[in-house]
Amino acid sequence: MKNFFKLSLIALLMIALVSFAGCATKVEPKAEAPKAETPKEEPKEEVVYKVGTEPTFPPFEMTNDKNEIIGFDIDLIRAIAEDQGFKVEIQQLGFDGLVLAVQSGNISIAASGMSITPERQEQVDFSEPYIDAGLAIAVAGNNEIIKGEADLKGKSVAVQIGTTGAKKAEELKNAGIIKSIKSIPTVDVVMMELMNGGVDAVINDLPVTEAYIAKQPGKIKIVGDVLESDSYGFAVRKGNTELLEKINTGLKNVVENGKYTEIQKKYFGE
Ligand code: GLN
Repeated sequence: MKNFFKLSLIALLMIALVSFAGCATKVEPKAEAPKAETPKEEPKEEVVYKVGTEPTFPPFEMTNDKNEIIGFDIDLIRAIAEDQGFKVEIQQLGFDGLVLAVQSGNISIAASGMSITPERQEQVDFSEPYIDAGLAIAVAGNNEIIKGEADLKGKSVAVQIGTTGAKKAEELKNAGIIKSIKSIPTVDVVMMELMNGGVDAVINDLPVTEAYIAKQPGKIKIVGDVLESDSYGFAVRKGNTELLEKINTGLKNVVENGKYTEIQKKYFGE
């Protein structure tokens, strides 16, 4: 009798379990169905990051005859994006507004020949450096007086607002060397000012000044030594480690797979 009760109890328990399981299998597919079908109906959403740049900075960023923004930085960030599976949307901004645009989230990345400096590192996070540059003094092609930094005594200098060149000029002015500074929003106008005799010299990034010289042979020349060496990095909002890691991994990959060299050759020659 005892055994009969025991067996009945087990049987009952088993029936209960089976019917419970039965219920569960009936309910589950209904609950899961919408989740499972979603990816089939909607294509996976693509992440698009806004990239800000100031395009009077050849060969890093410039406009072509169709008014499209092209250049070394643009190709490089596109290659990184492709490697990491995101899209970029290039947006033109004033150079001196880029850091603020990154901080406020108006853009996600600044790709604009931006030198990695301790001051900027307090405001934004930088990728690993992607190219080396530095500052140089340029004068008009026929200027035989200014041959280096010391000859800037009492002279006027044009710079692009918010740049390392502007900061250097400020230092030389405070040291009583440069007499006056003309701060201009874009580098094309900075160079125009020099060619028109509006200023005695320009302090700007060496590779960019070289690009302007190549376009206007004989009208501008570089004098003296490189004033300061630095490296460019892509800037993102402070603490955006997710994006920063994508950029750094992508950069490493495009260096390793030869894409970086390809872009470098395209904009700087062999
Ligand atoms: N490399 C310089 C800087 O970071 C100039 C950059 C630029 O004018 N685009 O200030």
